[in-house]
Amino acid sequence: MNEHARWGADRRLEAAAAALEKNGFGARVFPDRDAVIDQVLEDARDADTVGFGGSLTLVELGLPDRLREAGRTCLVHGAPGLTPEERVAVMRRQLTCDLFLSGTNAVTLDGKLVNIDATGNRVGALAFGPKRVRVVVGANKLVDDVEDGVRRIKRDVAPANAHRLDFATPCAATGRCVDCHSPDRICRIVHVMERRPRLTDLAVYLVAEPLGL
Ligand code: SF4
Repeated sequence: MNEHARWGADRRLEAAAAALEKNGFGARVFPDRDAVIDQVLEDARDADTVGFGGSLTLVELGLPDRLREAGRTCLVHGAPGLTPEERVAVMRRQLTCDLFLSGTNAVTLDGKLVNIDATGNRVGALAFGPKRVRVVVGANKLVDDVEDGVRRIKRDVAPANAHRLDFATPCAATGRCVDCHSPDRICRIVHVMERRPRLTDLAVYLVAEPLGL
């Protein structure tokens, strides 16, 4: 990214952070991935259990491994070798963990979080349950408004995720959403957080580089 594009991206991150704060969320902008990793490790110092919301961003940052090394109990429902029943049990524990870490599919410039889920464990824990919630989001997830966010998710994120997870959806084969009726459809819950849920300590960490899908 050249310096002029970087300047514009930084202004958009600052605008999103200010709007998130206005909407009651905590919000901070981090210059790069190392800075946000340090902050999350600091956040987790007094957390016995850390839940993960199935986020490529968090995996890309190496946070599950870093937190395990730091002695935290990490609740990762996508861990290899789990039976379907064990996966659901981990998701239930995430709902009452000390610190829930998640990405988000989109952040709007007017300070809203937009997600599309299949199961609902991620958006459930984002809204209520964990003692603290921290959302880590790369600059590539900034969108103008909720409509733009849903469009981005259906166009760029869900097809790539369906392909990555080897689901039998039309988009996993063609890369295009057709608002399918597939049993494997992953777009089942459209979740918009317009303001911070009143009982949830939720902060958004905006990172000035692309992360995740
Ligand atoms: S609605 Fe179906 S086709 Fe469209 S992105 Fe979601 S899973 Fe893919």
